[in-house]
Amino acid sequence: MPDRLSQEIIIAMVGPVGSGVTTAAEFIRKTLTQEFEYTVPGIIRPADFILAEMHRVSMEPPPKKPLGTYITTLQDAGNRLREKFHGDYLAEKVVEAIVKLRSDLGGASDKADQIPGRRAYIIDSLKNKDELDLLRRLYGKTLFLFGVFAPDDMRKMRLIDKDVADEDEAKKIINRDRGEPLTFGQMTRSVFTESDFFICNDTKVDELERKLRRYIDLVFDVGVHTPTQAESAMHEANSAAVNSACMSRQVGASIVSRNGELIAVGYNDVPKFKGGLYREDNRHVLDLDSMKPAFLDKDHRCYKWGKGVCHNETRRNNIVDKIAEKIKQSKLVGSRISVADIKAAIAGSPVESLIEFSRSIHAEMEAILSVAREGRHSIVGSTLYTTTYPCHNCARHIVAAGISTVVYIEPYDKSLAIELHNDSIAETKSSDKSHVVFHQFDGVSPRIYFELFKLKGARKSAGRAVKPAPKSALPVFRMQLDGISEYESLVLFGLEEKEKAVAVLE
Ligand SMILES: [Zn+2]
Repeated sequence: MPDRLSQEIIIAMVGPVGSGVTTAAEFIRKTLTQEFEYTVPGIIRPADFILAEMHRVSMEPPPKKPLGTYITTLQDAGNRLREKFHGDYLAEKVVEAIVKLRSDLGGASDKADQIPGRRAYIIDSLKNKDELDLLRRLYGKTLFLFGVFAPDDMRKMRLIDKDVADEDEAKKIINRDRGEPLTFGQMTRSVFTESDFFICNDTKVDELERKLRRYIDLVFDVGVHTPTQAESAMHEANSAAVNSACMSRQVGASIVSRNGELIAVGYNDVPKFKGGLYREDNRHVLDLDSMKPAFLDKDHRCYKWGKGVCHNETRRNNIVDKIAEKIKQSKLVGSRISVADIKAAIAGSPVESLIEFSRSIHAEMEAILSVAREGRHSIVGSTLYTTTYPCHNCARHIVAAGISTVVYIEPYDKSLAIELHNDSIAETKSSDKSHVVFHQFDGVSPRIYFELFKLKGARKSAGRAVKPAPKSALPVFRMQLDGISEYESLVLFGLEEKEKAVAVLE
């Protein structure tokens, strides 16, 4: 069975224009080919499929310049193709390309003593969550998603320097999705946050290559690599998140002191008397004077408290109901207009973004409070890692607590942190000393952190460090090439043979 595991890997790229996605893809191709002796049959570009198939939605391939119009036309054609042939249409075209490339390279042999060779397929780039979902369902963990990003001003400069756009055009492209810290389309954002590796490409190409090489080494478990402080802290935040029983979402946060010590973690849930949050296990709360158990905690988290409803959502809906009823009662609208009509007319208003009626405190607040509760440490100048971008409520607590930096993975569209606090918060990675800096996480994602960093083989042999050769190294994640029933038959066959042999001896 171990001989029938795949060696193939799929590398998918995601990132906004000008972030260096294509440069990164090219470096990965070169490294895999030259150092890992992998065959990389070209780079698969979904944009080429759009160009080839746009006639199916009655569109013509546009001229390459101006770049803004070219990108918009391709996006438009891509959306129309997805509408017509389902959201994962371009991923299906990717699969078609992989099947063809594999077959050209000798195929996936079904002979038990042969396995498909050392091959990698690089996709530049994914734009849509449906595409990622299909590919992950098919290729599982053998697909690695690389999310490349860079600050907007740097992306603008790159577009101008590479002469793909002039100043005005570059500005237009970067500003297309204003209000996003990194200008993605919203659909692409949702792919990006699913990345296995996040790469901030904001310095020189050498630095980009150093980061990529470290990730490739991790994919093949070559050399000794341990988590950076940011990776470790984000993993802590992500682990804390699973404590949450909130019906809306699970968020985790961790705080690292100025000196790099982990000083707190937090998650979002309902606070309990005497401090802290409810957990699954009910615990005796000590009376602080006698230090004897005073009473047993009861779990009053939302899913089992009262009517088991989400209070934020219920109260928010009540506001909309009341507004609609008031309008109806006021007779400002005709008698044929119902309360339901009014509600339909005001659907999508900012009332739906209200977050203040939640019983839970948020992960960031709990992390800050836990430090105070135990009188542990100063958090002035610390860094807060959070799985989700802070809401405006947490943002003001973060500022007041004296935290210097916030690092996040997922965006949070309802957050007005910047709109309400741009006097004290900035979204940049520069060495801004007059604001709390909020920036995107750069590193190995918590989703594969544990599996990549966990010790897999011996690090030493006869007392000396082992140095595995990239050219024969196997990827950490491999797929079984045959079905479970075939393996079961093999086991049963072996079992029968063994029993027969022993019976003969007896
Ligand atoms: Zn919050």
